Amino acid sequence: MKITQVEALVLEKPLARPQRNSKACRRVRRFTFVLVHTDTGLTGLGDAYGDQALMAEIIRRRLGPMACGLDPCRPGQVWEHLFSSRAFWEPGGSVVCGISAIEVACWDIWAKSEGVPVCELLGGGRREWIPAYASDLHWDEPAWMAQTAAGFVQQGFQHVKCHLGAPGQWEQDLKRLQAIRQAIGPEVGLMVDLNTGMDRTQALRFGEAIAEFDPFWLEEPLPPWDLEGHRWLEEQLPFPIATGENLYTVHGFRPAWTPPCCTYLMPDVLRCGGLGQMQQIVRQATAAGMIVTPHNYSSGVGLAATLHLMAAEEQMQLLEFDPTGTAIYEELFPQGLEVEGGRVRVPSEPGLGVELSPELIDRYQPRSRT
Ligand SMILES: [Mg+2]
Repeated sequence: MKITQVEALVLEKPLARPQRNSKACRRVRRFTFVLVHTDTGLTGLGDAYGDQALMAEIIRRRLGPMACGLDPCRPGQVWEHLFSSRAFWEPGGSVVCGISAIEVACWDIWAKSEGVPVCELLGGGRREWIPAYASDLHWDEPAWMAQTAAGFVQQGFQHVKCHLGAPGQWEQDLKRLQAIRQAIGPEVGLMVDLNTGMDRTQALRFGEAIAEFDPFWLEEPLPPWDLEGHRWLEEQLPFPIATGENLYTVHGFRPAWTPPCCTYLMPDVLRCGGLGQMQQIVRQATAAGMIVTPHNYSSGVGLAATLHLMAAEEQMQLLEFDPTGTAIYEELFPQGLEVEGGRVRVPSEPGLGVELSPELIDRYQPRSRT
């Protein structure tokens, strides 16, 4: 089988409320879907996560032409060709996100051609239901955040993650956490994500201030390369630290576990290099004593790929799940996505189990300029 064409398709979903973290404010969610076509008529679906101003061009002008002629049933070879066949290396960022999208689409094609779900090719599905936490509670009015968090718990989630730490928001952030903790009760895990917004001194002071709300973990308090800082911070604070969504490839991740920089490692399948890289990262990090809990803020394509990997790699814990209805998400699963009691079911049909129908393409055509 050969890849004959790689298509990039930008779709978007406007947001009813802005999504704000410590660094940015988003009013629309954009997705660059990647369709890998083959000479057999089989098509694979990927999602090029990354800077949305760049992704479509990276796919159309650089990676797509490089992938044509390769065999999608050998995703490792496709990865090698796209990542390491040039003298000028791109070891991270948007190019690796683009490679990840094509690699994931190749697994989709390979599994469809074999008539099995992707998890079977990753070593075999060892579990059908994946435990998940409710994510993507971005900073907002304390009462609204508390009510939304309580709604997630009512849906069955036992862990909820919020994004805080924007400059000038310290006092309000404490009010937000107080309101959320009160709304969800003492037993539900409450993760706090700072999206790399602080330096070591600020993060330590902030961590000490929020300790009374018993965080389950503090995520990305520092820039992603300051692994020593994460290690130091975890020694100072009475709760675990998490990081990893801004690291790329097994080579880029290695310093995170030699020695372990914190308790939780969070690779993202659409950023770290795809399923093959992610599987190596999961196994090596786990062997070094870290707990791998995947980052997953994307479309249903990233969700499906992560579900299949988690089905095969049982040691992975707590899928990041977006229950906000703001992504192009559940509707990509033609058989429906089962979410029940804080768990998500692994798709069982051949491939990833996701499809981008003409109706969805029409529904989410870009219309705004923000
Ligand atoms: Mg995060």
